[in-house]
Amino acid sequence: MAMTAAALDLCRALVRCQSVTPEDGGALGILEAALKHAGFATQRIRFSEPGTPDIDNLYARIGTGAPFLVFAGHTDVVPAGDAAKWRFDPFAGEVAEGAVWGRGTADMKGGVAAFAAAARAYVAQHRSGKGSIGFLITGDEEGPAINGTRKLLRWAYEKGERFDHCIVGEPTSWHVLGDTLKIGRRGSLNGTLLVEGRQGHAAYPERADNPIPKLMALLDALNAAPLDKGTPRFEPSNLEIVSVDVGNPAFNVIPAQARARFNVRFNDRWTPETLAAEFCGRLDSAGMKFTLSLEPCNAPAFLTTPDSFTKLVTDAVERKTGRRPALSTSGGTSDARFIRAYCPVVEFGGIGATAHMVDEHVAIADIEALTEIYAAILEDYL
Ligand SMILES: [Zn+2]
Repeated sequence: MAMTAAALDLCRALVRCQSVTPEDGGALGILEAALKHAGFATQRIRFSEPGTPDIDNLYARIGTGAPFLVFAGHTDVVPAGDAAKWRFDPFAGEVAEGAVWGRGTADMKGGVAAFAAAARAYVAQHRSGKGSIGFLITGDEEGPAINGTRKLLRWAYEKGERFDHCIVGEPTSWHVLGDTLKIGRRGSLNGTLLVEGRQGHAAYPERADNPIPKLMALLDALNAAPLDKGTPRFEPSNLEIVSVDVGNPAFNVIPAQARARFNVRFNDRWTPETLAAEFCGRLDSAGMKFTLSLEPCNAPAFLTTPDSFTKLVTDAVERKTGRRPALSTSGGTSDARFIRAYCPVVEFGGIGATAHMVDEHVAIADIEALTEIYAAILEDYL
């Protein structure tokens, strides 16, 4: 079967698996069979942790030499929501109007299918070339991401696996296929600010101590100036107050406590530690007592400095689409934040416009072109 037709078939087969995190629905088995059939050594690894569901993961490799290019992705999907709101059954992999429809077509069964089909085609012709091709596929990206890529990477490392480069197949394209390649991600940090007062009657404020005006002053101080103006490869960092909580149902009571929660998306000018110091400095300047708690950060900002590998990927995209992708660090966090500790990583895939939405779909032409791009990358790399 032609490589691009195989990608479409595999994508549809994966969509028919109801792999809503933490269910696998048979998705990893289908992918594993396809890779095994092509000569990959495959392993299924199940990770557990108290309080979270057990999750299946798949590791596959062909070849023993370097360079070792590994593809990373996930087969789990977010829930479909009300299936009646969809034009087609979200788990049927329907083909209509030049597109495949269904949950996960864009994020990211289409990307997984494209890379697997490209790798199979490459292997059929050249085995693993002079190097190795690998797959790190998890069923826990859309969920808590505890029993997924992070543990799979550690497991592979302890087995002696050493990757030279990684491509994450998340749908990075914005308007058209090939317009965006991600070479980094901003970090994310969550914080809670608590102010204590003294509860009392609203008619006798002199006997109480209202924490709300203090919280407002503290939030003003926290938000007084932008964190930075951006860095050469990153947008400015942003602090967003996402909730102010008092939980007071009464009009005649001054509450005892007020708290606010905030999220910071930060660039490579900051680490969680330097941000913590900055926040404390700003809050101290308001001259009142507060408690600041920052959640442990597992998502620092990172950048894969453009080099010959990013050029190889960029050139392949341009050759197939006529478009030179922008090197971007925008958007949320992804599993690439874990991978970057092991090898340089870039993210490139289809158009994410309908990811997580009703009527998620991906153009067949885009799955085909993406498969050809991945095939070109394999040719050039190995
Ligand atoms: Zn995804």
